[in-house]
Amino acid sequence: MTDVLIRNGRLVTAEHDFQADLLMSGEFIAAVGENLAAPPGAEIVEAAGLLVVPGGVDAHTHLDLGLGAAHVSDGWFLGSRAAAYGGTTCVVEHPGFGPEGCPLEHQLNIYRKNAVESAIDYGLHGVFQHWDERAARDLPELVRAGCPSFKAYLTYGGRLDDGALLAALKVLGATGGLMTVHAENHAIVSHLAADLESSAPHLASSHPRSRPGYAEALAVDTAICLAEAAGGAPLYIVHLSAAAGLEHVRAARAAGKKVWAETCPQYLVLTDDCYEGDFGQALKYVMAPTPRKREDVLTLWRGLLDGTISVVASDHCSFAWADKKTRAAGNVFRSPGGVPGVETRLPLLYSEGVVKRGMSLSRWVELVSTAPARLFGLTGKGGLQAGFDADVVVFDPHFEKKLAAENLHQAVDYTPFEDLLVRGWPKMVFARGRKIVDGERFMGEPGSGRFVARQPFSAY
Ligand SMILES: [Zn+2]
Repeated sequence: MTDVLIRNGRLVTAEHDFQADLLMSGEFIAAVGENLAAPPGAEIVEAAGLLVVPGGVDAHTHLDLGLGAAHVSDGWFLGSRAAAYGGTTCVVEHPGFGPEGCPLEHQLNIYRKNAVESAIDYGLHGVFQHWDERAARDLPELVRAGCPSFKAYLTYGGRLDDGALLAALKVLGATGGLMTVHAENHAIVSHLAADLESSAPHLASSHPRSRPGYAEALAVDTAICLAEAAGGAPLYIVHLSAAAGLEHVRAARAAGKKVWAETCPQYLVLTDDCYEGDFGQALKYVMAPTPRKREDVLTLWRGLLDGTISVVASDHCSFAWADKKTRAAGNVFRSPGGVPGVETRLPLLYSEGVVKRGMSLSRWVELVSTAPARLFGLTGKGGLQAGFDADVVVFDPHFEKKLAAENLHQAVDYTPFEDLLVRGWPKMVFARGRKIVDGERFMGEPGSGRFVARQPFSAY
């Protein structure tokens, strides 16, 4: 593999922001400094006026999710290619539920098998769909085998009830694992949904009305209490969407509890206005949790800027819009949920955060790369130090793009961010030293990514 010298870029990490050269040799970053000499035969990239940042780490994707007969439209290769175009060089995938009663490794094995198509590196979270003695027995070995984070849903069919969540937190916390939680109170959501499905299934607004912010806040509070009861087991709240939930996270962190929160671009850009108007249009935005009010959006931005929220992930889940319309057939509760966003995550947070809200470049890098790499045990990713994986993005801070399904590479027929003007876009992307994106050209291939056995959790 050719060495690559990136010259005169503005290197940005979570800790530093400085003008320098960066040399990649083989799969690793070999040196960072001023006036580095180019080894014979090295490719030279002139990066004056451009940013050089660690490759994005997307800690929450569903590139390969099946839900009954429905399947997301991309799969590992096309999904990972779209990620690369957007500057993400590593994802940690959340597997869907397996057959009832299946052991923990069941879904990990299936996802591991399909993921060999990935063009970028990947890790896998585990998923709980029940709790029993076998799960307690199997967990430590799975953590040791490179899967130190698991997800518990507090709603849906495979949810853990409070007792099971407490038990799982105890074992996971004691074995160096990190519990990630989809926090929505199931009793509230199912009660409201039953009511609205019989009275107003044809209104898209019935969907957000069935999953109010307080249902999220209740579940966040429950999870925080139980993690504390489990001896201070580390806890990570996925896709936080509501101000009320964020206040519980803020209080827990202020009290020194090991609690981290993630949010997603859709909760930072959209509001529940997206459910008004045409039913078919509104189905694009069926996701759980749902976008909230303007005040929630402002509160989430404050949380990102003041450190209450630690990670921005995509929760990319690209059920096609056409599929949503067919399956909903006039009933919003029958639509598959989720939105695509693995390609737009870095540029959106740059444009909406750095350009519009004065977020520092280092904070941007921390949210989209460094913090998820550290929280999820991806040693050697999320930074630009010599010895780290040469996952590097050359980012053009001035490039403008009006987002539309046609000018993105996600294999899906819509984007929830249609017509949004974004400033800043990746120009060149390197994954373990290999150039995989050069402008519009994709140079990776199925299988150019690798499974990353992640390290056990260590506080960040
Ligand atoms: Zn998800």
